[in-house]
Amino acid sequence: MGELGERLRAAREAKELTIDQVAEESRIQRAFLEALESESFGAFSSELHTRGFLRNYASYLGLEPEEILALYDKTRAKTSHRAKKASPPMSDQRSSGEMPAPAVPVQAKHSAPAQPQRGRASAIIGDMLLLLIGVVFLSIAVVYLYRQQAVGQVRPTGGPTPIPTATPLPIPDETTYTMDVNLNYAEHKLDVRQRIDYTNVTSTTLANLMLNVHPNRSKGTFTLNGLKVDVDGDLVQPEYSPLDVTLKVALPNELPPDEHVTLYMSYTLSLPRIAPDAKFSDASFGYSQRAISLGNWYPVMAPYRQDKGWYSLSYFPVGDPYVTDVADYHVTITTTPGVIVAGTGAETHTGNRWEYVAKRARSFALAASDVYLIDTAPVGASAQAAPLQGTGTEQPVLGQTGTGNGTAGNLTVYSYYFPGHEAAGQAALDTAAKALELFTELYGSYPFPAFRLSETEFADGLAFSGLTFLGSTYYDQYDGTAQASLIPLTAHEVSHQWFYGLVGNDQVTEPWLDEALAQYSSYLYYERYLPGDKEWWWDTEIRQYAPAGKIDMLIYQFRNNRDYMNAVYRRGAEFVGDLRETMGDPAFTAFLKEYVRRYSYQLAKSRDFFTLIQEFTTADLMPLQETYFRQRAVP
Ligand SMILES: [Zn+2]
Repeated sequence: MGELGERLRAAREAKELTIDQVAEESRIQRAFLEALESESFGAFSSELHTRGFLRNYASYLGLEPEEILALYDKTRAKTSHRAKKASPPMSDQRSSGEMPAPAVPVQAKHSAPAQPQRGRASAIIGDMLLLLIGVVFLSIAVVYLYRQQAVGQVRPTGGPTPIPTATPLPIPDETTYTMDVNLNYAEHKLDVRQRIDYTNVTSTTLANLMLNVHPNRSKGTFTLNGLKVDVDGDLVQPEYSPLDVTLKVALPNELPPDEHVTLYMSYTLSLPRIAPDAKFSDASFGYSQRAISLGNWYPVMAPYRQDKGWYSLSYFPVGDPYVTDVADYHVTITTTPGVIVAGTGAETHTGNRWEYVAKRARSFALAASDVYLIDTAPVGASAQAAPLQGTGTEQPVLGQTGTGNGTAGNLTVYSYYFPGHEAAGQAALDTAAKALELFTELYGSYPFPAFRLSETEFADGLAFSGLTFLGSTYYDQYDGTAQASLIPLTAHEVSHQWFYGLVGNDQVTEPWLDEALAQYSSYLYYERYLPGDKEWWWDTEIRQYAPAGKIDMLIYQFRNNRDYMNAVYRRGAEFVGDLRETMGDPAFTAFLKEYVRRYSYQLAKSRDFFTLIQEFTTADLMPLQETYFRQRAVP
């Protein structure tokens, strides 16, 4: 056994755990645990799996995953006949010989080149483990070479793209992503030029930036064509190291707190196919027969944790293995004519060019289809058109019972659906409009001028800022009643605009924080608008699954999405229901509103949730702690 296996075994033994206990608790199979400890990496189907398991096991043991993966690299380098290559250096000599000198005025540090330049591309092919990200480098002219030959009939439309700007930008605290996307719909390929303006909001001087590149989990999907950093007006190719689904960029100059840096990337995405029965991560990114889905699709800044540094994530098939800070987005998509795009935020649309602006969004996602039909509704109107029902002899309904109280103003809901699904598309629209109204009243304002529901082909619902993917399966099954799964699912996904979008959380280690609240919010929708069906909701969404166990689990501790949903969503909703009963409605409502107000645009933690509860109730929460939580949650 080498140093790596020894470290893992020692950490496990220090916790006085047997392999069997770990297998039981972590849900990682015994054989895999043994393979990791004995460094028998042949037991894993791929490099990516080995790394995923190593990372998960390290996290479980309380070891630093990056350290363990570095040790793994060292072990591999020793045992491999082939010397491990470092990232090919993007040397100045090489590029200056082949590229025209950048026509970049030397300006303030955060200014950008005035115009994109074209030039000859040369490729350096490197072999880096199995990671595509390290395979191809193209020396590109200045920053933005448009690889027009690669995108078939799609051409950028006239005029300079919005990415480069000669005007110095104000420096926001939020990271700003400016993206220019060329979408070849028929070939499900995208060419993307992406600018990231990042301000060091940490209190640490940074030597590196870390990006999470989720598409890189599947081979042949993500190809990085160019990467440059603006150094006092000069565009410099930095050294970088790809690792799993992360990209670590060594900054040419260290970045002190409050200083600003601009990164330019260009890359190609070749989308994988989404299976009709796919869920969660497997469904958020790819193409299907009638649509493409782009969720978690671009290199995104890893959150920085003051105590642990950059938060690099790894792929996991259960739950949502994504954690992001809010950022500003300005995205322009030029697509094959006839394709309809639905994205996050305020939309401007001319011909086959779609432009989106979203401030302080948790994510930017989009769906596109060449057969979409669209319905729209203003929020407020639909709630008034369908008056509230049955509050007379029913139990008290949470919050106020008037209409229009929480109307956000100029908010429009868009429903995109496939031909033949008109009734379901309309029902999803109506449900979303009413849900937005209710959750605005209960939790506070919705932050964008538009909310979009996009039917895409999978078997689930997925929420992003300002946009939700809803699976075709649910449209197919829609029977015109409030007891069709499309309705509770839509309400659940809409509430993620508050619990995920506004109040973020670590969806890997504390997924209950958004999912339990989202699931319970779906119940609140029924309680408010469909009180006659609220028992049906509870029976169908919760009781029939007989959920059991604790809710404060990591996604890594689940073998499959069914177990995960039983614990985190369903048991989670039972917890929220019990919490409401314990606190009483006025305190419960006031608490949730304040929770959203206080933690909007942040990543909240379980302890924030419980610390805040104490301000709203003196009730004894220990019974809830004992019933629902593994670890001490109640202070
Ligand atoms: Zn959810």
